[in-house]
Amino acid sequence: MQPSQRITGILEGGSDGWEVFNHARAMIASGTPVTELTIGEHDIRTAAPILQDMHRAAMGGQTGYASVPGIPALRDAVAARVQERTGVPTTRANVMITPGGQSALFSAHTAALDPGDTALFIDPFYATYPGTVRAASALPRAVKAHAANAFQPRAADIAAQAGGAKSLLVNSPNNPTGVVYSRETLEGIAQVCTDHNLWLISDEVYDTQVWEGAHISPRSMDGMAERTLVVGSMSKSHAMTGSRIGWIVGPEAVIAHLINLATHTTYGVPGFIQEAALFALAQGEAFEAQIAEPFRRRRDLALCVLAGQNMVRAVPNGGAMYMMLDITATGLSGEAFAYSLLEHHKIAVMPGESFGAAAAGHIRVAMTIEDGAFKAAMATLCTHAQTLAATR
Ligand code: PMP
Repeated sequence: MQPSQRITGILEGGSDGWEVFNHARAMIASGTPVTELTIGEHDIRTAAPILQDMHRAAMGGQTGYASVPGIPALRDAVAARVQERTGVPTTRANVMITPGGQSALFSAHTAALDPGDTALFIDPFYATYPGTVRAASALPRAVKAHAANAFQPRAADIAAQAGGAKSLLVNSPNNPTGVVYSRETLEGIAQVCTDHNLWLISDEVYDTQVWEGAHISPRSMDGMAERTLVVGSMSKSHAMTGSRIGWIVGPEAVIAHLINLATHTTYGVPGFIQEAALFALAQGEAFEAQIAEPFRRRRDLALCVLAGQNMVRAVPNGGAMYMMLDITATGLSGEAFAYSLLEHHKIAVMPGESFGAAAAGHIRVAMTIEDGAFKAAMATLCTHAQTLAATR
């Protein structure tokens, strides 16, 4: 029996970009210690009080089917949070709780696209984006954001690719670049969406990790609330990656359809997870700042190390838990550099090419290990780049 083309084609038969990561994991499994600066996950676990609340909720009986769109109190809390952060009137009817941001991305594309429709996304991109579009039976079309423009996407480039497209997916603060889109960038994006009648899918899962500038949600721009679906998640903001809890915020009528989709797919999120999420949100901004703080600190450490040399250049990263580093001066591709660093120094980073052609000649470093080890790894990375350039 042949499985469907839809499911066999999710990765389009090509590379999934995780080869260096898998290689590093294989080394670890065979007993070689590797410093991993690859995956976007905190080096802390979910805070004990959140887990205690999860336990309380489970013991209290929240183990049956939960309300499919989300428990009302959590939908209200998300609506209040979004309204407070963006100024856009938002109610429970604009919110659906999802099992993580990834599920929200799939659902948002399913809501925006019919089979065979074209969906735009910005390159460099989070690894799942094109596959998510294909899983929703649509065709992904990349629009390059250029290193020369500090990876801020340009409206003219998006407009040039917009013919026949139905949606545009953007992500700020950005994975993999750490770039926070400027107001000017977002105004350009809003204009293209209006001009070309595109849905805007705005992935804002890093919105609590902003080091410079401010996070602006494009849903708050003139006329955009009616065509924007915001993807949110507590994975990054509350170190709750394994709890699988996120949301979609959008127009009421679309949320109603998305609830139908959830009824026929996920059937919602466990009640005890939702209760714990409600508890976590109630801890407020100070708690979120505490979760984000290590990345802010490590970014400063990295910038300090990088300031002492000129072989490796940082892309200006205003947010998120990553740094994108330009290693073109070494003459190597991102992939060759990543393999060489792994081989010689047992440090694993992600090749820029794993995130699209626009990030060629770069590597992505996740700032997800303890400060001292992180600083040492950055210093080794820079020395390795010097050595490679000198022996070229
Ligand atoms: N969007 C981006 C940009 C991400 O980096 C991630 C996770 N790495 C997700 C969405 C999905 O996160 P989750 O499903 O854990 O909410």
